[in-house]
Amino acid sequence: MSDGQVLLFGAPVDLSALIVALVIACLVAGYLLGAYFSTRGMRPARTPKRFKEDGAVFLKSINSLLANDTDKAIAELTRAVNLDPETVETYIALGHLFRSKGQFDRAIGIRQSIIARSNLPPALKVQALFDLGVDYRHGGFISRAVETLEEVLKEDAKHLGAAQTLGQIFEEIGEWEKALDIQKRVEKLTGQAQPERLAHLKAEQGKQLMAEGRMPEAKAAFKKALSWDKGSVNGLLSLGDLFLAQGDYKQALNTWRKVAAVAPKLCFLAIERVAGREWGAKESAAVEGFLLGAAAESKDPWSHLLAARYLAARGKEEETIAALRQGLKLAPDFLPAHRELGQILLDRGQMDEILSGYKDLLDRLPGKDLAFQCRQCGFYLEDYSWKCPSCRRWGTIELID
Ligand SMILES: [Zn+2]
Repeated sequence: MSDGQVLLFGAPVDLSALIVALVIACLVAGYLLGAYFSTRGMRPARTPKRFKEDGAVFLKSINSLLANDTDKAIAELTRAVNLDPETVETYIALGHLFRSKGQFDRAIGIRQSIIARSNLPPALKVQALFDLGVDYRHGGFISRAVETLEEVLKEDAKHLGAAQTLGQIFEEIGEWEKALDIQKRVEKLTGQAQPERLAHLKAEQGKQLMAEGRMPEAKAAFKKALSWDKGSVNGLLSLGDLFLAQGDYKQALNTWRKVAAVAPKLCFLAIERVAGREWGAKESAAVEGFLLGAAAESKDPWSHLLAARYLAARGKEEETIAALRQGLKLAPDFLPAHRELGQILLDRGQMDEILSGYKDLLDRLPGKDLAFQCRQCGFYLEDYSWKCPSCRRWGTIELID
C-alpha cells in the first residue's frame, strides 16, 4: 500500500481521507444534533458548556480531515474522547480512522473498549463487534476475526456485512464447506441467487478433496457444482482432470469437450489442457479428434491456433494448415495465425499460396500516414505546425515514427 492510500473497509483507496471526512462529518452532524435535542436516551444530557467544547473539537478534527491530515484528526478526536469518555460515536469514528491508517492494534483496542461498556445499546454493540471483526481480519488475526464475526451473526442473524466478510475469509483460507454455508445464507439475506458463485465454491472444494486423494467425494463435488450451474467451466475442467487422474482419458476428453458447447469463448482452456499434455500412442487419435472438434465449435481463434500447434508438433501439416485457416476464417486479422501459416507455406515453397497469403496479409496491415505530436503536451496533429494548437508553445511539434 502506498503512502497516498489508506485502507477503508478493507480496500486501499486514494483520496480516502476525504471520504473518511464525509463519513465523520455525517457522524458528527448526527452526534451534534442528537446531543443538542435529545434529553433522554442513552446519552446523559450535556451542559451547554460541555457541548460547546466538544463541538469545537469536532470542528477541528473535520478541518484536519479536509486538509488530508489524518494524524492531526486522530489527535483531535483522541482529545474529544478524553473530554467525554461516554461518547460512543467518537470512539467509533476514531476506530475507523485508526483502521484507515493501518493502525489495526489501536483500532482493535478502541472496539474492545466500546464493547466493554456495561450500558451499551445492543445495536451499537453489534456494530462494534463487526468493526472489531473487520479490524482483526485486516490486522491478520484471522481466527479471531472468524470468532468475532460469528458472534455478530449470533447477535444479529441478518447482519449482511458480517456474513459477507466471513464468506470472504472462508474463501481466502480455503474453508470451502463453510464458505458454501455462508454463501447460501447471504443469498437468503439478499434474496439473490448466485448459482455461478456457488458452483465455483463447490468446484474449489472438489479440487481440494482431489488433492487430498478423496476421489469419490471430489467427483460428487464437481457433479454438484455442475448441477447448480451447467455452464460451470471450472466444474467441467476439474471433473475432466479427475477422470484423467483415474486413467479414464475418454471420459476426460468427453467432459472437456462440453466446454465448447457451454462456453465457446472459454474453449481455449479445454484445448490448452489437452494440447499441452503428453499423450500416448493409443490416445492420439481420440486427442486429435477432440482438438479438431472442439476448435471447430469454439468462437475464438486461439483454440484453432493451439490445436494447430499440437498438430504441427506431430508433423500433421495438412491438418495444421486446415486448423489455421479455420482460425483465420473466424478472425481474419488474427496475426499469430497468419504468422504460423506463412511459415509453413514458406517452408513448403508453394509460391501461389505464399503470394496470395502475402497479398491478403497486406490488406490487413494498418497503413500509416505522416503524423505529428507535441513533445510538451502530447497533442496529436495531422499537419505540421510551428506552434502547438493545444499548449501554444513554439517549435514543440515532432514527427511520430
Ligand atoms: Zn503542446
